[in-house]
Amino acid sequence: MQTLVADHPLIAHKLTALRDVSTETPVFRSLTDELVTLLAYEATRDIKVERVTVRTPVAEASGVRLARPKPLVIPVLRAGIGMLDGMSRLLPKADVGFVGLARDEETLIATTYANRLPADLTGRDTFVLDPMLATGGTLVAVFEMLASRGAASMTAICLLAAPEGVARVHNAFGDDCPIPVKVVAGGLDDRLNERGYIVPGLGDAGDRLYGQI
Ligand code: URA
Repeated sequence: MQTLVADHPLIAHKLTALRDVSTETPVFRSLTDELVTLLAYEATRDIKVERVTVRTPVAEASGVRLARPKPLVIPVLRAGIGMLDGMSRLLPKADVGFVGLARDEETLIATTYANRLPADLTGRDTFVLDPMLATGGTLVAVFEMLASRGAASMTAICLLAAPEGVARVHNAFGDDCPIPVKVVAGGLDDRLNERGYIVPGLGDAGDRLYGQI
């Protein structure tokens, strides 16, 4: 498994504004959107392409286009929905699947309440959108769903990650995993607190994107 933590001043600048408790929902949403597009650039570095030739007004040029089958983007409900537009900007033709997982606030165990994924993901690059890689329970569960359906690769895009979450995903999909697995994060924070929140983090990403319900 490959873990990639962004190292770019623009990402650091936007992430700092995102963390700020005084950043209100409309700005939080647009910062999330911009950050995902920047992270998606790195997350798609190994996406499958095929060679094509096109005719320019001057001559033939050889190039590439995204290979079939189409990639699949999977926002994890609910906060991952806030990342979908930013991802679709770079991959407008990708299909979109949905999974919903809720975390029990006492046990921190994630249970699946929604699953709209193709039954067969053979040959498909998959991109999971989840803003916070905290305990890693959600991401491991989603990766297991994708791997069992035959995904060709699995990449998670997260705004922030905790070392505990990265370690858990690595333990589950470490060096023995036959599928390429990647986590791309905007930042790697210090730790989780006793409630499973990332420290310093940005609070509850879903609440900050969509309000408390
Ligand atoms: N989910 C969040 O929204 N924030 C955290 O810090 C951890 C999990």
